[in-house]
Amino acid sequence: MKYCARCGSEYRDDIEQCSDCPGNPRLVDVGEMRSRGLPLPHELDKRVFVRAGTTDNPLMVEVFVELLQETDIPVLVRAGRSGVVDKLTTGNLLPWWEILVPEEQQERAAALIERERAQEAATTDEAVRAAEDEERETEQSAAPPSTL
Ligand SMILES: [Zn+2]
Repeated sequence: MKYCARCGSEYRDDIEQCSDCPGNPRLVDVGEMRSRGLPLPHELDKRVFVRAGTTDNPLMVEVFVELLQETDIPVLVRAGRSGVVDKLTTGNLLPWWEILVPEEQQERAAALIERERAQEAATTDEAVRAAEDEERETEQSAAPPSTL
């Protein structure tokens, strides 16, 4: 069996990548799961993993996972889909992801995620403002048409 170190899903040996996670991470073997402190699917019930945050932005999933891994917090990502999904409605439903961590680390992880989210929001605002400023400057300082 192979496992996704991102969401903890179990896969057959002939499967290489996780289909649930953003970026389709490469699957790992049981030893790799152990060394990262991650539970196997059948152990997940016994180890309590709780929600530290959610996001609907696949880029932020990557950011949060890396952030928590750097801090040595085991992290699992659960792909969420609201309601019943069938082929007809899939296009209308935005996917979202739950960031799961061990219960005893939940407080720390949630704080890290919130801080990162705030930083990200600030950066995005700045980027938007900078782009608007640039646009305005470009309009004002538009060079007169060259006479050929
Ligand atoms: Zn996965």
